[in-house]
Amino acid sequence: MGKSEELMERALKYIPGGVNSPVRAYGNVGMTPRFIQGATGPYIFDADGEKYIDYICSWGPMILGHNGQRVLKKVVRACEDGLSFGAPTEIEVDMAEFICEHIPHIEMVRMVNSGTEAVMSAIRAARGYTGRNKIIKFSGCYHGHSDCLLVDAGSGLMTAGIPGSAGVPEGCTRDTLTAAYNDLPSVERLFEANPGEIAAVIVEPVAANMGVVLPENGFLEGLRQICTNEGALLIFDEVITGFRLAFGGAAEKFGIAPDLVTYGKIIGGGMPVGAYGGRHEVMEMVAPLGPVYQAGTLSGNPVAMAAGLEQLHILWEHPEYYTELEKKGEKLYGRMEELVKLYGAPCTVNAAGSLGCVFFTDSKVTNYTIAKTADTVEFARYFKYMLDRRIHLAPSQFEAMFLSEAHTDDNIEETLEAFEGYLKTRE
Ligand SMILES: *Cc1c(COP(=O)(O)O)cnc(C)c1O
Repeated sequence: MGKSEELMERALKYIPGGVNSPVRAYGNVGMTPRFIQGATGPYIFDADGEKYIDYICSWGPMILGHNGQRVLKKVVRACEDGLSFGAPTEIEVDMAEFICEHIPHIEMVRMVNSGTEAVMSAIRAARGYTGRNKIIKFSGCYHGHSDCLLVDAGSGLMTAGIPGSAGVPEGCTRDTLTAAYNDLPSVERLFEANPGEIAAVIVEPVAANMGVVLPENGFLEGLRQICTNEGALLIFDEVITGFRLAFGGAAEKFGIAPDLVTYGKIIGGGMPVGAYGGRHEVMEMVAPLGPVYQAGTLSGNPVAMAAGLEQLHILWEHPEYYTELEKKGEKLYGRMEELVKLYGAPCTVNAAGSLGCVFFTDSKVTNYTIAKTADTVEFARYFKYMLDRRIHLAPSQFEAMFLSEAHTDDNIEETLEAFEGYLKTRE
């Protein structure tokens, strides 16, 4: 028994399922999670000291790779000044100013502690601003675990094969309408059936919580148009895509200005941070300026801000990182796709820059219904094969692979060799 198995035994006794977030459990791949004791660059080390090439990257935040010294130094310096004050600090102003000056569609921003909180708060602001209650989300998109968004949510719920969560009263989800991803008529129908009642449409502009699913040509543009026509707000949940697909996220990449944007993951540099922002007139609804209440004892925490802001500075100073991430993605996912064809495997590779995913289905995956046809038993076999070769993937068919600036050509070659090895086992 390895150290991870021993730790899991202890964990199971005191933590539900042994983990503090369900996606970390290896239940659906029938294994025990690797407990991690450290990480550097593209590598993580488990409790037995085994080294893996990491494609989870903390589910996105570690876009520069693990344990970068510039971020670490800022964090240590901030710690020395005090961990938390519950009063405003200069670095919060620096962070807000930096975001608003570099992201064209954001004029004001509020920091929170997680992506969940960011989305929950953005929805409240949208409802407050429009005076409407209903929202539209898309099946398979995950927007955190707040009550009203646990409807056909992707990520851990999809992995567990459940549409929603117990403990969420029907009243909490009554105003959540669901449309199909890449299906504008399904959105139009909801607007027709609920005239003047829809506050906002929230979308992952590239879906990355049902595996990776790309918006088809015209889908995001269509949402923008519908929302403008109907007086509803368009919310881009850029918790994964923000500062990843481009510095300005999917909004920049696809050239669309949402009314509100939510961030998390990368914006904290590995610390628990989220943010939501948008146009003045919407953000001015938020307390203490406006009537939409939203608060947080540790929001804008100086240590978290130090990590997040330094990571954003690095990304801004190195626009070439985005070109490099794009190239790495093309190499890794592009070659995977070629190998799939070469071996005639019933797989589909979806990729958007540094995000990618292998679906175990030969259908083109453009929405939740199709994603769900993937063979999760085969995924589990693939996952184990890769882990045995020291490639650390998300333990679910319905999560993305995350490339970082630290991943090398050699890492990618090694990963592709393992992938080809796996494909050979199918013959
Ligand atoms: C991870 C994620 C969230 C939730 O963020 P947490 O920090 O886990 O609360 C929300 N939206 C999207 C798109 C995400 O990927």
